[in-house]
Amino acid sequence: MDRETLDQGIAVSLEAYPNIIIPERPLDILVVAPHPDDAELGMGGTICKLLNRGWNIGIVDLTDGEPTPHGSPELRAEETRQANGILGNPWRYNLGLRNRFLEPTLENRRCLAGLIRLIRPRWLFAPYWQDAHPDHTAATELVEAARFWSKLSNSDLAGTPFHPERVFYYYCIHLKLHAQPTWIMDISQEWDIKARAIQAYRSQFIAGRESAEPSFMERFREEAAYWGKLIGVRYGEPFASKEPIGLRDLAHLV
Ligand SMILES: [Zn+2]
Repeated sequence: MDRETLDQGIAVSLEAYPNIIIPERPLDILVVAPHPDDAELGMGGTICKLLNRGWNIGIVDLTDGEPTPHGSPELRAEETRQANGILGNPWRYNLGLRNRFLEPTLENRRCLAGLIRLIRPRWLFAPYWQDAHPDHTAATELVEAARFWSKLSNSDLAGTPFHPERVFYYYCIHLKLHAQPTWIMDISQEWDIKARAIQAYRSQFIAGRESAEPSFMERFREEAAYWGKLIGVRYGEPFASKEPIGLRDLAHLV
């Protein structure tokens, strides 16, 4: 495909993604979040750490996360903008799918697969595959199916065929289960920033919870400290992989 045809194809396909700004260089990681706040909760420390190391990170929020008891679409968007700034301004886009009605339909798969082809992330991060929240399990299915579709040739998807090398899974779950992560990232240095990014979502984690003991953030910090304890550091973030992970050497383990 020559450049002009490619450019035309991208221009046409961009109509499906209002106001999108394509990153100047392909992303190293695209974090797919069912709702604004899930990326921060699940892997805000890792996002912050990798951004500081020069990685090109992006987040796509599949829905606007609303309605919620203390939120509104406008407030949630503003909270997302603030949280994103606190993390270090990863590329971010909202796909505009419908909150509470998220399903891994062919139409939604087409939408996410087209986005993957346009922004070409090397790796994907999806919500962990077991959850009580139907939007979260739908998002997991959607990521896996869209990843497969994004490599298809001779299709009418946006962009050109592209296959993210890996899918990893972060934990932002509504199910009271004990996670068995594949690895834990040391986020001791990034904890304060992660906590501030989460607290930017005042409508979700502060409003209406003022009198709760222990507070949401106390519980959340204890959880991060537990994951840190398992690897001998202050705070950690757990991740899972369905496939084995290859190591080049044993030099950089915690
Ligand atoms: Zn969520």
